[in-house]
Amino acid sequence: MEERIVIVGAGQAGGELAAGLRKQGYKGRVLLLGDEAHPPYQRPPLSKGFLLGKMALSDLYLKPRETYERFDIELKTGTRVEAIDRSTREVSLGDGSRLAYDKLVLATGGRARPLSLPGLEGARLENLFSVRSISDVEAMRGRFVPGNHLVIIGGGYVGLEAAAVAVQLGLRVTLLEAAPRLLSRVTGPEVSSFIEQLHRQQGVEFRLSCQVRGLELDEARRQVRGVSLTCHGVPERLEADLVLVGIGLLPNTELASAAGLAVDNGIVVDAYACTADPDILAIGDCANQPSAYTGGRIRLESVPNAIEHARVAASTLMGKREPSAAIPWFWSDQYGLKLQMVGLSTGYEQCVTRGAVEGKEFSAFYLKDRRVIAADVMGRPAEFMAAKRLVASRAQVDVTLLGDPAVPLIRLAA
Ligand code: FAD
Repeated sequence: MEERIVIVGAGQAGGELAAGLRKQGYKGRVLLLGDEAHPPYQRPPLSKGFLLGKMALSDLYLKPRETYERFDIELKTGTRVEAIDRSTREVSLGDGSRLAYDKLVLATGGRARPLSLPGLEGARLENLFSVRSISDVEAMRGRFVPGNHLVIIGGGYVGLEAAAVAVQLGLRVTLLEAAPRLLSRVTGPEVSSFIEQLHRQQGVEFRLSCQVRGLELDEARRQVRGVSLTCHGVPERLEADLVLVGIGLLPNTELASAAGLAVDNGIVVDAYACTADPDILAIGDCANQPSAYTGGRIRLESVPNAIEHARVAASTLMGKREPSAAIPWFWSDQYGLKLQMVGLSTGYEQCVTRGAVEGKEFSAFYLKDRRVIAADVMGRPAEFMAAKRLVASRAQVDVTLLGDPAVPLIRLAA
C-alpha cells in the first residue's frame, strides 16, 4: 500500500512541510489536516496589515487552495484531530472517523494564553479578544473604530503591533505591562525605551509595572466595561470599549501528551524533529528542539523557525539527516518601521548601539565575552544581513569599531 504521511495542523509549518515533501520528490500520500476553515496562512499580518484592513484575506494564504490539489496534497480544513493511537498508527478525527498513518507530524502550533482572573469563569465576553487566528481578527474588527478605547494587556510584540494599528485607525489605546519595561524578556533597556517613545509619540498611553486586578463586566456578563489595575501600588480603573490580551502562547501539546510522548514546554524532539516514537515528528511553535546556537533546548515562535523546522522534518522523512544550524531570528512592523532581531540576548554583558536612535535607524548589539550573541536592528535591512553573519561568526569584535557607523559592519563579520 502507498505510504502515508499525515500532518496535523495546517499552519505555517504544516503547509511548508507538505509542499517541501513534494519538492523533494516524495511519492506517497500527503494528508494535511487543519481545524481552521482556511488553507495554511501567514499569521504575522494578523496584528499588522490585515488588522489595519490593508491586506485581503486571500493575500494571507501561503498558497491558493488549488495549488494543494496540483501538488497532490490532500488538504482537509475544518478537520480536528482528537487523538493518536500509536499501537494501530491511527488518528481519530472530530467526526468520529479514523485515519491511518505511516508517519505522523504534529504541527499544532499554539493558542493565546488566556487571562486568568477571578470572576471571569463562565463569562462569554464579546469584547475581550486575543489575536491568533483570522477568526480572532474578524471578531474584533467591528470594534476597531475611531474613538473607541482599547485596553491592551501585555507589552510583547503582538500587543505593540496591535497598538500601532489601533492608533492608526483612530482608537485611543492604553497598554498595560506587568514588567517595568516593554519587551523585557527579549530585548535590552535601550530598545525597550525606544519602542516606548515611538508609541508615546503616536499617542499610546502606558501603565508599566502594572497588575491587572479584574475586569468590570456589564450585568449580562457579556461586555467588559472597565479594567481595574494597580500601578506602582496605586489603584486605578480604566473604562474600556474593548480589551485585547497579548500575554503569550500556550503550545498545543495535548495530543502528544495524551499519546504518551514527552512534553516539556513543547513536544520534545531531537535534532531531526523526531519524538521518541520513530513514526511521530513535531515541528514549529509546538516543538521543543535542540539548538545548535544555544547548546541547549529551545521552543521558538517565529515564521523563520516554522520554515526551517519544516525543512528539517522533510529531510528526515525523505531518509536524510539534516539538522538545523539556524540562528533564531524574528521581525516586527510598527508604524511602518521594520524591526529585525537575531539571536537571543539572554545573559548579555554589554550593549553597543550604532546609528541614531532619534533618527529611528539604529542597531543594538548584545555582547558576551566580546562576541555578539544577538542584535536588534531598526529600519536598516541591509545592516541586518551583516548582523546575522556577525552573530553566526561568534568572532570576538572590537566594541569601538562595532559602535562606529563609519566602519562597515560586514568588515567585522568577515
Ligand atoms: P500555526 O501557524 O499556529 O499553525 C498551527 C495550526 O494547527 C493552526 O491552524 C491550529 O488551529 C492547528 N491545529 C492545532 N491543533 C490541531 C488539531 N488537533 N487538529 C487539527 N488542527 C490543529 N512570527 C514572525 O517571525 N514574525 C512576526 O512578525 C510574527 N508576527 C505574529 C503575529 C501574530 C498575531 C501571531 C499570532 C504570530 C506571529 N508570528 C510572527 C509567529 C508565527 O506566526 C508563528 O511562529 C507561526 O505561525 C508558527 O507556525 P506553526 O505552523 O508552528 O503554528
